[in-house]
Amino acid sequence: MSFNKLNLHDSLLDRITALGYSTPTAIQEQAIPVAMEGKDLLGIAKTGSGKTASFVLPIIHRLLADKPVQKSRQPKVLVLVPTRELAMQVNEVFRQFSETLSSSLKSMAVFGGVSINPQMKAMYGVDILIATPGRLLDLQRSNAIGLSKVQILVLDEADKMLNLGFEKEMEEIIKLLPTQRQSMLFSATLSDRLSGIRKVLLSDPVVIEIENKEEDVTQINLSGYFVGDDRKGPLLRYLIREKNIKQVLVFTSSRQKADKVASKLSKNGIEALSIHGKKSQSERVTALEKFKTGNLQALVATDLISRGIDIDQLPYVVNYELPRSPKDFVHRVGRTGRAEHSGLAITFVTKEETHHFKVILKKMKRYIDMIDSQTLEF
Ligand code: AMP
Repeated sequence: MSFNKLNLHDSLLDRITALGYSTPTAIQEQAIPVAMEGKDLLGIAKTGSGKTASFVLPIIHRLLADKPVQKSRQPKVLVLVPTRELAMQVNEVFRQFSETLSSSLKSMAVFGGVSINPQMKAMYGVDILIATPGRLLDLQRSNAIGLSKVQILVLDEADKMLNLGFEKEMEEIIKLLPTQRQSMLFSATLSDRLSGIRKVLLSDPVVIEIENKEEDVTQINLSGYFVGDDRKGPLLRYLIREKNIKQVLVFTSSRQKADKVASKLSKNGIEALSIHGKKSQSERVTALEKFKTGNLQALVATDLISRGIDIDQLPYVVNYELPRSPKDFVHRVGRTGRAEHSGLAITFVTKEETHHFKVILKKMKRYIDMIDSQTLEF
């Protein structure tokens, strides 16, 4: 199927072509027509499925049909996201699709951890607001923003929002919105907790469930190394050199470990930075930008951050430490081999973790021939 069949506004089709998208992904094919009609939507799809454009395109399409209104502090579209990184990414997709349109649409991302004043000032004339829940409420309470004109609400990565404890904020925000609106909820999984928010939010939604590539991770090559904790650092450096790795995302379980691994890599001549919840906003942005543009060899991250990292064709992911849940594992390895490109996810496993790793692989219906790092010379 081609994008032409979706009846999107011509200027959007031009942008789609300019961005090099040839065919809609499964979620786009199914969600765009529903969203264009203004219906409520529940999309079960993960990052990597193309879900962002599946709501961005119909939203812009609908806004283009609106008559111009006087500028105000009342956005028409509100997109709630769990993290700053995702807020910036979603805003970037809105920008990509709207920047050359004849009628100007202003989108903006707001999130905590940075000064609120510039955000308050910039709120005037914003049509599309992408926000993390806490900061949105701060802005609303200080009258920098009104939510009574919101026509379209999107909750992106709703499961992640619940996991991060944003339930109360989400409920509070929903109460501030007009009841007459379109709501779209996107989540990687369908949990019991999600049903609660789904009931408050959606009325008779069209449910679209996409079997995600990340779930079967068939196109991602997996490899595993048995290695003691004390040899993980040398093994990582060995693999980076041996495989001539130019860009690798390394996962650790704690912030402290992320810092340690990054500093050790740097000391050994491999340029690395860490990224996690304790880093300042500007540090996170700088590290992510450097990494995305290929100017940073290794980025060491914790799980919290993994959802916000969206890089095409990321060639290598290393699980320096195993995550506790299989879900996190799938999510981490899903950072590589995205958008139909293959990648390699390497996992370090200590002898004590062997059983846990087997459980993860079983859940993924995958099998790996483990390599014993003691057989390698490094
Ligand atoms: P998302 O799931 O929204 O995070 O998108 C994952 C990646 O796929 C992003 O880098 C998009 O730019 C890319 N993408 C989204 N839709 C398409 C498409 N129809 N064709 C090619 N790439 C796409």
